[in-house]
Amino acid sequence: MYVAEQVQKLIKQYKTKDPFSICEQKNIAIIYDDLELDVRGFYQYYKRKSMIHLNQNISPEEQRIVLAHELGHAVMHKDYNCIFLSRHTYMTKNIYEHQANLFAAELLLPDAVPVDFYNMSYQQLAALYHVPAVFVEMKWGK
Ligand SMILES: [Zn+2]
Repeated sequence: MYVAEQVQKLIKQYKTKDPFSICEQKNIAIIYDDLELDVRGFYQYYKRKSMIHLNQNISPEEQRIVLAHELGHAVMHKDYNCIFLSRHTYMTKNIYEHQANLFAAELLLPDAVPVDFYNMSYQQLAALYHVPAVFVEMKWGK
């Protein structure tokens, strides 16, 4: 399974790159919880219903990243329950976590680096698109 193809299929089907809108259209419930700060969110599959919990205490930019990651689990790993921790490094060796990060990177970044930004570093691009630098590296780093 190719993660990038899955993301493109989804964007085409739902006509948006916004993870909030995709969840709504896919009937994935988004639940805002008052969680400890080190739990940023988690995905839950319970009684045949997909739910994504987001920590209400983190920034909207971070909620978008976590949601895109958890949406990746909902699409690719339906039965896998993931807890997204802040100590969760993006350099994980776990294949499911890696695929979910790749999914989020594909969804949140444009297909190619815009020409005007060619001379920017990964860190600068990451700040521009409000994603972790490792997402930029995953998608455009070859
Ligand atoms: Zn995860």
